[in-house]
Amino acid sequence: MRLSRYFLPVLKETPSEAQIASHRLMLRAGMIKQQSAGIYSWLPLGYRVLKRIEEIVHEEQQKAGHIPLLMPTLQSADLWRESGRYDAYGPEMLRMRDRHDRDMLFGPTNEEMITDIFRSHVSSYRDLPMTLYHIQWKFRDEVRPRFGVMRGREFLMKDGYNFDLTYDDAMHAYNRHLVSYLRTYERMGLQAIPMRAESGPIGGDDTHEFLVLAETGESEVFYDSEITDLKFGDRAIDYDDRAQCQAVLEEFTSRYARTDDTHKEAVFEERVPEERRRHARGIEVGQIFYFGTKYSEPMGATVVDPEGNRVPVHMGSHGIGVSRLLGAIIEANHDDKGIIWPEGVTPFHVGIVNLKTGDEAADLACEQIYNAVTEAGLAPLYDDTDDRAGAKFATMDLIGLPWRITVGPRGLKNGVVELTSRRTGESEELPPEQAVTRLAQIYAGKL
Ligand code: ATP
Ligand code: MG
Repeated sequence: MRLSRYFLPVLKETPSEAQIASHRLMLRAGMIKQQSAGIYSWLPLGYRVLKRIEEIVHEEQQKAGHIPLLMPTLQSADLWRESGRYDAYGPEMLRMRDRHDRDMLFGPTNEEMITDIFRSHVSSYRDLPMTLYHIQWKFRDEVRPRFGVMRGREFLMKDGYNFDLTYDDAMHAYNRHLVSYLRTYERMGLQAIPMRAESGPIGGDDTHEFLVLAETGESEVFYDSEITDLKFGDRAIDYDDRAQCQAVLEEFTSRYARTDDTHKEAVFEERVPEERRRHARGIEVGQIFYFGTKYSEPMGATVVDPEGNRVPVHMGSHGIGVSRLLGAIIEANHDDKGIIWPEGVTPFHVGIVNLKTGDEAADLACEQIYNAVTEAGLAPLYDDTDDRAGAKFATMDLIGLPWRITVGPRGLKNGVVELTSRRTGESEELPPEQAVTRLAQIYAGKL
């Protein structure tokens, strides 16, 4: 992409309504525009990151054997009356009426609808196990929408639902989700710690929330500091291997880590030596639940089991806050100049800065680098505008591309360009072809 033909409305001023870094930086970098409280347009740069995060979520879900579909945002109230949640949900649910006076709602979540799909088409245990998921906009009329996309009213969520014959099968689905979530967050350059949590309006017995530690997080958390040393890394996983998935769950959840809802000071003190006790704040980026037959029973989602009996299926639901993740990633990756995207989610892989647009040699070298980067399967953002070099650097630092190639007449006389890391600020002088090769090496295995 050439910057002269792109739409990147960066702001010079710091918007006064933004209280935390991620919200401020998303506005300043021209990623989002607020349309009304808690409702945002995704401008081109923000949209690219959002799509990238969706892509990672899709890939990791499908590796775990989970099946994508797409349900609508608007739902019929009748479905929610069947589960009893239409009255139970409260003012967070946006309710409306269509021209035929039918009660409708903008879905805050999809347990009822997915259960309806399941009961309409599945009736034998032979079709199980089955996990269906989608990535779709949700609406919750939050009392206090704030912090930009972190607590929106309209927000993008991946929500997945497992259907299983037995409790054990459902717990395997729970473990599969835990593993796939660990992998998903790590690919985004985040450490998200599974913590024992309470279930809220979705209801359930077993549940973990995934928290990214950050001072600006809305959740209060208590944990054993040893837990921050755990990494899933690039170990192989067979999602059909129950023992292996269970072992990962045990590894990541056996140490004390709880949100304030489930925290017990006495247990904390008994189980964790004082020097390892941490009391901090975190951002909830996901949650997994097992809730058994809470929806399948009232809604008649049953299958015929091997003995010929009709039994309600065991279910769980599993969510990732896709749009909130942008905020969480920026909270964890920024400095006073701007965002620092992890390689896995960056909107463009490299920024090309032409120090002297109009200089024949510089223009030509930039074009060649642009083409070579594209041919290497990477996406460049080429600043081909007439702006001063200082302004170009400031924009690149603000939007946070992890790598920058700087091209100027002086360097070219010596046959070199500069490859700079946004994170460390370190630069290396290299011939243009080698800079592109280095970049390809850096990204190999990270996308
Ligand atoms: P919270 O406690 O933050 O209100 P929740 O527990 O009600 O969230 P879930 O039903 O668990 O939310 O939804 C799954 C995920 O969707 C959450 O883990 C979170 O990352 C994200 N999410 C929930 N509410 C919002 C919101 N208002 N804006 C952005 N993301 C949200
Ligand atoms: Mg939650």
